[in-house]
Amino acid sequence: MTRFLRFSFVPFGTSPTQNPLYPFARLLHFGFGGNSGFGSRNRFFSSQPKVVGSVGIFWDLDNKPPNSFPPFDAAIRLKKVAASFGIVQYMVAYANHHAFRYVPPVVREQRRERKALNQLENRRVIKPVEPYLCRVCGRKFYTNDKLINHFKEIHEREQMKRLSRLDSARGKKRIQLAATLSMKMEKYKNVAREILTPKIGYGLADELKRAGFQVHEVSNKPQAADDALRNRMVELMDLRQLECLVLVSDDYDFVDVLKEARLRCLKTVVVGDQNDGALKRCANSSFSWKEIIQGKAKKEAVTVLGRWNDHDILKRLEWTYKPEMEENKFNILESVFESEDAENKDNSFEACSDLLDEVDVQPWWKLDSDVDDIPAQPNK
Ligand SMILES: [Zn+2]
Repeated sequence: MTRFLRFSFVPFGTSPTQNPLYPFARLLHFGFGGNSGFGSRNRFFSSQPKVVGSVGIFWDLDNKPPNSFPPFDAAIRLKKVAASFGIVQYMVAYANHHAFRYVPPVVREQRRERKALNQLENRRVIKPVEPYLCRVCGRKFYTNDKLINHFKEIHEREQMKRLSRLDSARGKKRIQLAATLSMKMEKYKNVAREILTPKIGYGLADELKRAGFQVHEVSNKPQAADDALRNRMVELMDLRQLECLVLVSDDYDFVDVLKEARLRCLKTVVVGDQNDGALKRCANSSFSWKEIIQGKAKKEAVTVLGRWNDHDILKRLEWTYKPEMEENKFNILESVFESEDAENKDNSFEACSDLLDEVDVQPWWKLDSDVDDIPAQPNK
């Protein structure tokens, strides 16, 4: 009996049942529960694993740009995976000047092809199957260049005017104006994104912002993005604002900050392409960039979360011997038993015997036989 009680991991006063035997009852479930087993989800776990809490995504864009994958979609998929672990409260991305101005080869190739097509259309060598439609005003054009010129001359100018009107308005008037113009401005932005070539790079920063990331450009000094990202992570850890840290990088320099996070009992997830990288070995879990993009990581995240839950339960069950604490617990236990009258004691044990009933405690001669295949012989 005392051996079991030493395992108590929930302070007596705070246990959900307020029953001093609660830890013992929990052990009965774990130890003898029908189809239990620590790894499996039995009836005492909900089918959905408990989420970790506040999640932060830290994206080292210098090291892991989305490149061939459209930045907005990449960011949304990353966010979805992170959201499997808890509530995503921080999404930050850091890179230097070059990363934002870089144009990936795939995008460069697409642009080259579009330019060649435009030239053929202008010389009337080819004709599009369907005319190009301006999705702001509905006008149709037979060449892409004409559509772009129209868009810039009419709609881009309109947008500039709206922005300057907003800039000059103040206070309540500004809020009203913003509300009036918001639909038109949003429509313009959506169409412009499709038909205009981004002014800087391939629109990495704007696309990530649209997906909800805070995007920061750092100086071009080596390690500037790493330092900024690391400081941000440590700052949020110090403020105890994080329970799960998702790092998008393959940079070995982040090993220390991951170790620090684990020391502070945070869950850590690394997204990178180096499968046996030092970062992934440090983290609680890891995904490749490909898994994120293909959507496999989202399903895997649920399994990972279940594993974390199981691990946490086992961790709480672990017995650590602390002489002073043990002595205190026995004193409390003794006083509880001494102060309760016999009737109360019966109640305590009733709760426990209910639990025993639940786990099918039968006399040994009624226990199920292991050999089910042998037909029962009638007694003569
Ligand atoms: Zn138009």
